[in-house]
Amino acid sequence: MELIAVPGIPEIDPGDDLADLVADRIDLDPGAQSDERDRPGSPPVGDVLCIASTVVSKAEDRLADLEAFPAGPRAREIADRLEGITGEERDPRFAQAVLEESTDLVMEAPFLLTETRFGHVCVNAGIDRSNTGGADLLLLPKRPSESAARLSEALSVPVIVTDTCGRPFRHGQRGVAIGWAGLPASRDWRGERDRDGRELGVTVENVVDELAGAANLVAGEGGGGTPAVVVRGFEFGAMAGSDEQFRSVETDFVRQALRGWSHE
Ligand code: GDP
Ligand code: MN
Ligand code: MN
Repeated sequence: MELIAVPGIPEIDPGDDLADLVADRIDLDPGAQSDERDRPGSPPVGDVLCIASTVVSKAEDRLADLEAFPAGPRAREIADRLEGITGEERDPRFAQAVLEESTDLVMEAPFLLTETRFGHVCVNAGIDRSNTGGADLLLLPKRPSESAARLSEALSVPVIVTDTCGRPFRHGQRGVAIGWAGLPASRDWRGERDRDGRELGVTVENVVDELAGAANLVAGEGGGGTPAVVVRGFEFGAMAGSDEQFRSVETDFVRQALRGWSHE
């Protein structure tokens, strides 16, 4: 498998056509149709395009200024509490923006961990304050899987929208898939056999997160200007796929434990 950063992508502005910008800079391989796969010489596996949510957000005009989020009492209370804990000044308008982008507050101190409107749990609702193209804030795409579907339709390859995210229990951030189209989110190893012939009972591998992680490694986090990365030669295989990505509260025991804890 190869990862190729699409060269020469410009600064993205609202209304830009990301599919055109990518297609003009790289020849994407849609792969062979399933009925051609056994033919000698035909590439069995097509490309997958991974694209940073940052540029999807810019193209979809998710840039915002803090002025657009006059702080209500809840946001002021959160900002005051965070200021007290961290000793750093907190803009209550930022807390307001996070609340408006979220449907559930998982933790409010010492940082805001929320569930976004499309089901992704992350710090500060994924609102970025770097690589924002000059705006105060860059909000995540409203429905990243729909953004991925539009790009996938236009480019005839599967598309994954990525973001850089922290995670509990481990230091450091890494790329995750917040939207995808054209491939399943996971592949199901259950029923496959290990080297000793034992049947696998639980492993469902989150393929879109793994590809997003690899692509994010190539995209970088700073001023590199490489938001689009092509994965070439990835084979999903014949396993069953599933599109489950974000756990529901009912099946997320860590989140339930956190809820009990943070509401004390
Ligand atoms: P995030 O992980 O989606 O939050 O995005 P980052 O801010 O980490 O940026 C990922 C990559 O996209 C980095 O290489 C950035 O330099 C690049 N990037 C961000 N915005 C733009 C843009 O408007 N144009 C180009 N060409 N690259 C961008
Ligand atoms: Mn981000
Ligand atoms: Mn990033």
